[in-house]
Amino acid sequence: MKHKILIIEDNEQNLYLLKFIVKKYGYEVSSARDGKEGLEMVGRIKPDLILLDIQLPIIDGYTVAKTLRTKQEFEATPIVAVTSYAMVGDREKAFECGFNGYIEKPIDPMKIMAEIEQFLPGNPHEKKNNRNTKR
Ligand code: MN
Repeated sequence: MKHKILIIEDNEQNLYLLKFIVKKYGYEVSSARDGKEGLEMVGRIKPDLILLDIQLPIIDGYTVAKTLRTKQEFEATPIVAVTSYAMVGDREKAFECGFNGYIEKPIDPMKIMAEIEQFLPGNPHEKKNNRNTKR
């Protein structure tokens, strides 16, 4: 079984690029365009990792992360911010809200999967039946 990665991103171009890269590396990809849809998708597909934009319609990324961390089922799911927020304190705020990682836009297609994958292998959340996942 492939690892499932959920991308929650409202920017069409960023979403397209992220989906393209993640699929190319052999992962199963799902996506949502706003925080509300994102939370619903997490409950439905139970992703192994979430790429979460911070500025999102309806419910922002901070709130999505905080909400997931209150649920036992998702308290350890890796959440990686992919964001253009670059103000002082934003990174800290993201970690306080429960994000595991923080990747700043613009997305570098050559580097981003290596950054994302450090949150996957050997992670306690990693499911035992996913051991032979193609990377
Ligand atoms: Mn956005």
